[in-house]
Amino acid sequence: MSVTIKEAINLIISQKLNLNTQIVPIENALGRVSAQRIEAKIALPTFDNSAMDGYALFSESGEFKEGYSFEVVGKILAGEDKDISLKGFEAVRIMTGAKVPKEAQTVIPQENVEVIGNKIKLLKDIKIDSNIRRRGEDIDEGEIVIERGEEIKGAHIALFASQGITHIEVFSKPRVAVLVSGSELKLHFEELKESQIYNSNTYYLISRAKELGCEVVFVGKSADDLDSIKNLIKHSLKFDLIITSGGVSVGEADYTKRAFNELGFESLFSKVKIRPGKPTTFGKIGDTLVLNLPGNPLAAALNFEIFGRILIHMLRGLEKIHLSFIKIPISKDFKKKKGSDAVIPGNLEEDSFTPLSKFGPGMVNVLNRCNGFVVLSSELSELKEGDFVKFIPIDWTLRSEKFVDFITS
Ligand code: AMP
Ligand code: MG
Repeated sequence: MSVTIKEAINLIISQKLNLNTQIVPIENALGRVSAQRIEAKIALPTFDNSAMDGYALFSESGEFKEGYSFEVVGKILAGEDKDISLKGFEAVRIMTGAKVPKEAQTVIPQENVEVIGNKIKLLKDIKIDSNIRRRGEDIDEGEIVIERGEEIKGAHIALFASQGITHIEVFSKPRVAVLVSGSELKLHFEELKESQIYNSNTYYLISRAKELGCEVVFVGKSADDLDSIKNLIKHSLKFDLIITSGGVSVGEADYTKRAFNELGFESLFSKVKIRPGKPTTFGKIGDTLVLNLPGNPLAAALNFEIFGRILIHMLRGLEKIHLSFIKIPISKDFKKKKGSDAVIPGNLEEDSFTPLSKFGPGMVNVLNRCNGFVVLSSELSELKEGDFVKFIPIDWTLRSEKFVDFITS
């Protein structure tokens, strides 16, 4: 049964998963997915404190005008727990981060006062409530530190630390088995004979699954031979996800589907209306999900990027599992065949998308030359320069070879 891309994605996301969790120290939590919703237990700042080195002031009228004079009745340094109470026209010498006295209404920076003996004179007006960082203005008790299903970034770890959190419950990393079949395939350290090629697909799939946060095992390569493929599959059934490439087409030696079927495979879709990548198949054996990708290297890679990525996001426990896009104009006219949705690899550079000038489903030397792709609807036959496309990044680091002026003016 042939499904559209959207139908295929719906079938993928309708799978119910039982995800395991583990507890890790926050130092080891980077890139993991939180299995907990954490609310702040400590307000930040924890106490009202000074944002400047200066003087905390109190005046009965709440006015602090140039020329007013205050008597300095004490000093508070950062980290000191002093309770100094203030009456009218009294000030406390205070340092950045120090706890401000209860009555203090404002803090004036030291450069805006003149010190005369044990008094200060204001050299400028200052508004009430200036330069005081109020308790809870950064994050208050009960506010969200992290949601369940959110990927843990450096900024989260800093926030955990600021809350005194030492450990966090995260989802276990997905365990992915990669296997490959094809009698023409040799591994890269083997000798090639006439009519043979090196297996390259496996290394794309392993690398990307690792980059996306999985633990990956290369289970092995088999010839186009039913029993050998079945043997590899049997060794992969304890994994969360099996990804294969090759042998799912309609050729005489395409045994992958048969091998899976003979081992109790439940197919969810077995062809997609997509170019390249029509033979892409998805299903499961027991609790193990299975994504069979075509053998053609670009087809395998792009279908991994569309379907495999969503599967991995689900298995990681992410809430945001779907691919998103950036809408930008295409830099030149582009023609495509009608009939299937087509995946076009290319590059987003600054403010436009340029499709690669040369690519085909069987090519290996493609994704190393681009940072993403667009998917063009079956209805479309051409795009004109300046027409908007939805760019889906693959590896998008936003770096530039030369300095570019990134300051908005
Ligand atoms: P298949 O889907 O098995 O019919 O393979 C389609 C094309 O992809 C054939 O030209 C294969 O030689 C090639 N191919 C299959 N598997 C791989 C692989 N792991 N690495 C590189 N090319 C492959
Ligand atoms: Mg083959």
